[in-house]
Amino acid sequence: MTHDPLAQTHDWTDSGFSTRAIHAGQDPDPRTGAVVTPIHQVSTYKQDGVGGLRDGYEYSRSGNPTRDALQEALAAVEGGAAAFAFASGLAAEDTLLRAVLRPGDHMIVPDDAYGGTYRLVARVLGPWGIDHTPVHLSDPDAVLAAIQPGRTKVIWVETPTNPLLGIADIAAIATHARSAGAVLVVDNTFASPYLQQPIALGADAVVHSTTKYIGGHSDVVGGAVVVADGAQLPAGLEGPTGTTALGDAVGFLQNASGAVAGPFDAWLTLRGLKTLAVRMDRHNANAEAVARFLVEHPGVREVLWPGLPEHPGHEVAARQMRGFGGMVAFRTGSAESAVAVCGATRVFTLAESLGGVESLVEHPGRMTHGSVAGTALEVPDDLVRLSVGIEDVEDLLADLEQALAAAGLSR
Ligand SMILES: *Cc1c(COP(=O)(O)O)cnc(C)c1O
Repeated sequence: MTHDPLAQTHDWTDSGFSTRAIHAGQDPDPRTGAVVTPIHQVSTYKQDGVGGLRDGYEYSRSGNPTRDALQEALAAVEGGAAAFAFASGLAAEDTLLRAVLRPGDHMIVPDDAYGGTYRLVARVLGPWGIDHTPVHLSDPDAVLAAIQPGRTKVIWVETPTNPLLGIADIAAIATHARSAGAVLVVDNTFASPYLQQPIALGADAVVHSTTKYIGGHSDVVGGAVVVADGAQLPAGLEGPTGTTALGDAVGFLQNASGAVAGPFDAWLTLRGLKTLAVRMDRHNANAEAVARFLVEHPGVREVLWPGLPEHPGHEVAARQMRGFGGMVAFRTGSAESAVAVCGATRVFTLAESLGGVESLVEHPGRMTHGSVAGTALEVPDDLVRLSVGIEDVEDLLADLEQALAAAGLSR
């Protein structure tokens, strides 16, 4: 490759969060100067003679410049050494788990994990020989007690959890993972890298459903794995490329099993990432107003938001998060009233998913967490989950006021 004077190379490592989100991996296009990374909607690349790859590009499952830009940006915002972008959050999780685990291994999962994560672990990986124990992660001692020495190879952490907004102490669990020789994975979807940096707290890998806050506009499904600098496979395991580096194994599987993010999806996700910090600040502020409104409302039984001083995880959350996030859950006292609230909102849209600019409401028991009914992960049937968006907060509060009244939960 000839050197192009238009190409900028700058080390963004020491820049602030938004500077990294906007610039890392996103130098202006060397040929045209285009300020935004182009969508390289292409499957294959011309070779300059057999094996003469330009910049290493051969085939888009193995490498694509738009996906590479996203991966570099995600690694930069999470403080990781490398990132790998996938077609969905679950594809990212599946690839990571199959890179790390072998038949006969055991993993620890949160007892209120995202339902799809639990389904993957229990019903897809289970039949392939992976054993799991659901653990209440707010108690680091319970994690320690669940570790099976020599067998537990992954500790999976979600914090805040979905939908109960439990908080796990990442640094405390990292100590246990290290002494057990297990890989500590944190699903950072709910917090986003702006609010929480698990790698700095000792995680070996972070996973994201970029569908949520990182994409941020409810217009793309995607996922990512970010690995820490120097992260290793579980003690004693050599990966498919002959090294013990976690990143090498994940990179190999990303190509070998192929659940990659497409170029347009990668581009949309990158576009969302640029505004993550300003969106999260507004999500936090609106969620705080909504949580305080619900606490004051006599028709509401219990409000779950880690920013409330009475939340059991408040202190840990205040220590490890920059803000408490945009997810709020509350209990109405009966399944009927919870379902009625979900059906009565006008600004909050009744839908699964979360993290977009628009506010969403859902009934986890019958919607997102239907797949874990009857398991250790079953959620209370009077729970309502809100993904508080970035609309004008007065409109959100007025909408909740009328929906609670319509559900018979009046003042
Ligand atoms: C949505 C979600 C996932 C799964 O991601 P998809 O992009 O839907 O595959 C995993 N973890 C959490 C916490 C989620 O909210």
